Amino acid sequence: MTAPAPQRADAELLSIGDELLYGDILDTNQAWLAQQLLPLGVRVRYSQTVGDETGDIVAAFKLAISRAQVVVVTGGLGPTADDLTIEALGKALGAELEFHEEVMDQMAARLKRPKEQLSGSNRKQAYIPKGAAVLQNHWGTAPGVHARAGRAHIFLMPGVPREMKAIYAHHIEPVLKREFPAPRVILRTYLYAFGIPESRVGERMQKYMAAGSNPMVGTKVSDGIIGVRVVAEAADEPAARKLLDEGAAFAREQLKEGLFAEDDGSIAAATGRALLEKKRTVAFAESCTAGLASAMLAEVPGISAALLEGAVVYSNAAKVRACGVKEATLAEHGAVSAETARELAEGIRARSGADIAVSVTGVAGPDGGTAEKPVGLVYFALATAERTVALRRLMAGYDRQTIRERSAAIALDLVRRAALGLAAE
Ligand code: AMP
Ligand code: MG
Repeated sequence: MTAPAPQRADAELLSIGDELLYGDILDTNQAWLAQQLLPLGVRVRYSQTVGDETGDIVAAFKLAISRAQVVVVTGGLGPTADDLTIEALGKALGAELEFHEEVMDQMAARLKRPKEQLSGSNRKQAYIPKGAAVLQNHWGTAPGVHARAGRAHIFLMPGVPREMKAIYAHHIEPVLKREFPAPRVILRTYLYAFGIPESRVGERMQKYMAAGSNPMVGTKVSDGIIGVRVVAEAADEPAARKLLDEGAAFAREQLKEGLFAEDDGSIAAATGRALLEKKRTVAFAESCTAGLASAMLAEVPGISAALLEGAVVYSNAAKVRACGVKEATLAEHGAVSAETARELAEGIRARSGADIAVSVTGVAGPDGGTAEKPVGLVYFALATAERTVALRRLMAGYDRQTIRERSAAIALDLVRRAALGLAAE
């Protein structure tokens, strides 16, 4: 008789703290933990966010224990009165809290104070539900906890991301690997594209987007960047890798020239990589973005080999003085026009001697729009030794900040495409 195949564990994440419900901070713990659990084959099926309210936390524990075998909890382990997670776990399990002298010893050592001098609120952190194990915290004072309820494993960690990550890696991941050996290997990769609407990407990827598809494709979008997630699972690594490659190859084909990176979604990094690889230099003339594109590119280490110059040409006078834009062009077509964009790009290219020059000029708003040139209208030009091309983009309905950020990203993507010899659009 063969042993039954191991079952995949279902996980539930609990994030505890009023600050999360108020929207003061983002739940980065939830996202990080979900990413850690995926490759272990532990499937996150639920996640709850609960405020600092004992009754609510008890209810959340009971629900989680009823439906998941792995319950990972962060927050509410501190020394203050609003830290209620331990007490709530005790109530949910029907277990009394037990004092752990060794926790006091660790805290005293960490705080470099005699144990007797620790405050009552520190003392509170040494009480753990009966039957549960202490997960030592070498990175802060509040210890983690590992408790059992029937088949379920419950892990508590402090909310501070740095401490949480260390306790997870040191104490929890090894337990999960031992208790729930992955029945299947799950692999994941991302492909990032710019300048393609999510709806169009969705239509092109439909084949792999249905529930239960393997490989499975999903999309996310932020700042105009489409992230296509490909997840594949199989009994072993080579089989999973083969499926992942199949999904990624399909996605690559659909995204075409919009694809700028895999695994890492920074447009500036992709542009920097392209320039450095192809040994091309770049200069910018920026009006409405006022240096944003140059600054984003400057985040890339080693970019001094490629980035020669960035001119902030906000006023008409600056456009004339720094880039040689003709007064007549400004008078006839205005600062926000294809003609001005072309002269800006050609002017900064001549002045800097860069291989590639890109200009940005537009109406970022909220004021200054007209029927003819509405808020969100931005012109770009790309000048190289071969040619100058101008592009018009209308980002209607966006706020000032978004228009500026999106424009800088478009400018960077133009540079990336020019460096790689791809079409501008
Ligand atoms: P606590 O363990 O509840 O005392 O949380 C300590 C601090 O960790 C909070 O003040 C937050 O700054 C941070 N924190 C708590 N929960 C989270 C979470 N889910 N994601 C990111 N940071 C968190
Ligand atoms: Mg808290």
